[in-house]
Amino acid sequence: MQAVRWTGSRVSPQELPTPSPSSDEVLVRVRRVGLSGLDVARLMGAAGAGGVLPGHEIAGEVADLGREVHGWSVGDRVTVNRLCACGHCLYCGLGRPTLCDQRQEIGLDRDGGLAEYVVVPARNLYQLPDNADWALAASVDPLASALPAVNRASIMFEDTVVILGAGAMGLYSAQLARLAGPQRLVVLGREAARLAAAREWAAAVVDVAAEDGLAAVQRLSGGQGADVVIEASGSPASVAEAVSLAGRTGRVALLGAYAQPSPMPAGELGQRGISLYGTWGYSPDEFLQALALLMGGHVRHQPIVTHTLPLDEVEHALALMVNREAIKVHLVPA
Ligand SMILES: [Zn+2]
Repeated sequence: MQAVRWTGSRVSPQELPTPSPSSDEVLVRVRRVGLSGLDVARLMGAAGAGGVLPGHEIAGEVADLGREVHGWSVGDRVTVNRLCACGHCLYCGLGRPTLCDQRQEIGLDRDGGLAEYVVVPARNLYQLPDNADWALAASVDPLASALPAVNRASIMFEDTVVILGAGAMGLYSAQLARLAGPQRLVVLGREAARLAAAREWAAAVVDVAAEDGLAAVQRLSGGQGADVVIEASGSPASVAEAVSLAGRTGRVALLGAYAQPSPMPAGELGQRGISLYGTWGYSPDEFLQALALLMGGHVRHQPIVTHTLPLDEVEHALALMVNREAIKVHLVPA
C-alpha cells in the first residue's frame, strides 16, 4: 500500500506492506484523512521522525476483520476514535480515557491513517450515518478535540468569550461557543482568510498582527476582560496571553497538549480569581457528540477544510499548512 512518512530529508509516499488486523482489530481502507498540526510537526521531522505513520483524522471503509470481531462487515463506512485506552482502569471507568495509563494514540503511538489502509482496534470504530460524506467523517476527531475545552468553560448567556487562535481548532471552538449563546464572542487570530471564516460565528474578530489583543479585548468588553478564554492556538507562548485576557472570575480553558513549557502569570490567577482548565483529547461520549453536531448541521466543517488533495501530493499539502494558505487539508488515498 501507499503510505506517507518522513524519510530523513523529505516527506514522500512510499510502498509498504498492507498490515493485517489481529483478532480484535479491523483493517480500514482510508477514504479521507485530515492533516493536523501535530501531523505537520511530525512530518517536518520535528517529533518522532521515521517510526510510526502519522494521521488520526480518519474516515474510511472496513476492508478486513480480525477473527474475534463481531458486529462489523466489510464495506461498513466508519470514522475512527484515535484514543486507545484499557477500558477497565479507574479513569476509563470514570469516562476519562485520556487519563488512562495504558493510553495509546493512533497516528502517534501506533500507525495512523496517512496511508491507503490502517489497522485499528474494533472498539475505536464508529458507524457513519448513510448521508455522512467523507469530509464530514474525517472532521469528527478535530471537532471532538475542541469539545472538552468549551464544555469545561461552562459558557453562560452574559459571558464575553474570547477564542485565541483562528486555525481549525479555534474555528471549531468558536462554533461550539456560539451554540452556548454568549453575549459576546470574539476571535483573536492572524490571516485574512481565517478571520473571514471566524466572522461567520464571532461578533468581533481581531487581527493581532494589526492590533494588540489585550487592548482589543478590554475595548470590546467595556474594560472588564473576558469571562471565558479558550486557548486554541496550541502555542505555549499564548497560555500567558490567555490568562492576561481573562477578567475577574474568568475561566481559561487550554485546548491541547503543549509541546514546550509555558510561562504562567501565577499572580494574575490569584489576583483576579481566575480558574484554569487543562483539556486534551476526548471521551467516547464527546466523539459521538461531535458526530451528532456535524450531522445536525450545528457545526460546519466546510469553511475549515479549505483543500482536498490526493495522498501523493502530501508535500504540497504540507507547504499549504506551513505557509498558512490552508486552514485544514484533507488527503484522499488512491
Ligand atoms: Zn484505562
